[in-house]
Amino acid sequence: MTHQTRPKDKLPVVYTSRAKCRDCYRCVRVCPVQAIRMKDGQAEVITELCIACGTCITACPQQAKAYRTDYNKVLQMMEENHQIAISIAPSFVIYYDEWQQKRLPSALRMAGFSHISETAIGAYQSAKATAEYVSENPHRANVCTACPATVNYVMHEKPELAGFLVEVVSPMIAHAKMLKKTAPKRKVVFAGPCVAKKDEAQWTVNQDLVDAVLTFDELDELLSIRQINLDQCEESSFDDLVPGDASLFPLEGGLLRTAGLKTDMLDEHVIAVSGFREVKDALEALNEKTGNLIIEPMFCKNGCINGPFAGHKHTGIQNRAAILNYAAKQRKPDPANIGSLKSTSTHFDTVQSGKKVDFSEDQIREVLKKTGKLTPSDELNCTACGYPDCRTKAIAVLKGLAEPEMCMPYMRRIAEQKFDTMIDYDPNGIVLLDHELRIIHMNPAFKKMFSCSDALLAKKISYLIDPDPFEQLVTKKVDVYRSKTNYSNYNLLCHLVAYVLPENQHYVGIFMDITDTSSSKEKLRELQSETVIKAQELIEHQISMAQELAKFLGEHTAAGEILMKKLIDSIKK
Ligand code: SF4
Ligand code: SF4
Ligand code: SF4
Repeated sequence: MTHQTRPKDKLPVVYTSRAKCRDCYRCVRVCPVQAIRMKDGQAEVITELCIACGTCITACPQQAKAYRTDYNKVLQMMEENHQIAISIAPSFVIYYDEWQQKRLPSALRMAGFSHISETAIGAYQSAKATAEYVSENPHRANVCTACPATVNYVMHEKPELAGFLVEVVSPMIAHAKMLKKTAPKRKVVFAGPCVAKKDEAQWTVNQDLVDAVLTFDELDELLSIRQINLDQCEESSFDDLVPGDASLFPLEGGLLRTAGLKTDMLDEHVIAVSGFREVKDALEALNEKTGNLIIEPMFCKNGCINGPFAGHKHTGIQNRAAILNYAAKQRKPDPANIGSLKSTSTHFDTVQSGKKVDFSEDQIREVLKKTGKLTPSDELNCTACGYPDCRTKAIAVLKGLAEPEMCMPYMRRIAEQKFDTMIDYDPNGIVLLDHELRIIHMNPAFKKMFSCSDALLAKKISYLIDPDPFEQLVTKKVDVYRSKTNYSNYNLLCHLVAYVLPENQHYVGIFMDITDTSSSKEKLRELQSETVIKAQELIEHQISMAQELAKFLGEHTAAGEILMKKLIDSIKK
């Protein structure tokens, strides 16, 4: 094992398409290693910290997270008439239906690949080498994994555990070595469900082995560019047969099974885990005193069958059954003809990301103070910013990963304060009522017009004025009430606009004092238009508050928004 800083020239695997990002923080929330920085309202991937797990790509609701595609590179290799071998990951069984699986080899030949075989052939060699490695190191913890996201996680986040990794090449690398050994000049392309494999192909130790890594989506794109339709291809076989149980590799425990290591779920010395949380917990339990333990971790829940580009057409159980059926049906090669690979060992480089910086309590408190968190009870730990708690978010601000303004309760408070100020200075009387027409809020102009004070809060509006306009809204007789109304008790002639806020069944009344009969119609029009603007601002404020909360809660407010827009239009009329 060696240490390195991440190569500066390393191509980013995952990045943000800036035009599409709507700063919802979902990717920040799901990124297991805090490799996403919010900057100018954009969620930027920090390449040096990213472990290329692909979680943010599938989580982003705007398709704003993207990965580096390689199919153009492959098309260019084809144009340059290179001999190209393609290694197809065993989870193709999940991505393609059974009839498509049988035609895929023909389609790939038509596309221009000269050798078509399954990565499972390399998996068999990896498994054999893993079994040997474990038998040579029986009294320690052995972390056996073919998953580059897991290796990246250890090397970036838990370098102290790197010594437990079994230093054996992954199936992709083993297969690439075999393919290059028989024809050193040919190009090797890998296709699978995984984004992290694009990163693995760039590791220094793997240089010049895999020339391009495609997801199955990219492979489909490439076939479509070459105008190849699977339903017009004939059935044919791959160029090599898969030995042993290597087709089971995409399943949790598949490596251990192929390696002939025990996979009894009750065996305390051999465990297969999948999914980030479980992998993290299992790895964190390891220490120098852990003896005789074999762990097979896979970053995606249930293994590569649930990789970011596995297709996700069927349930997990159906996918597992599909892999088991496919493996059971395969013709096995004659053991005498199974080639072997001598150089199966590898090494992993830990990454000095510079992320682990300690900040003093004073520094953290200073950041918390900036967002109104003066005491621990102000720390709501609501996770709306994408971080698990306010302190972690404050530390992220200090690291330059987050912005103070990402705190939603704080921003809402600021917005409300600003809006309250606007309402307070409005010359029109504004009253807000709850669903039972009790007064929630009155602005100073309203209190002056109706000679009342906050003592009336929580009292019904009928204490003050005729509630009929609001009752018409409650009974849905009208959507918006607009009328000239005489309040003789108060010597007032008002133009009243009243409407409902559908999200919380609150009612708003805006009273324009038009008592002064000497006022010109022009003045009245001005007042009306000012009122519409204020009403619109009030509505839009309510919408944005509802949207912010709904964004966090994952709800859809589109219907509410359309309704409110209609309301604004009807007020304008
Ligand atoms: S998840 Fe949200 S914040 Fe992240 S890239 Fe997508 S839109 Fe932007
Ligand atoms: S690919 Fe994984 S590690 Fe990289 S930014 Fe996305 S979620 Fe984080
Ligand atoms: S579990 Fe499989 S698909 Fe998921 S990151 Fe690991 S190797 Fe890739």
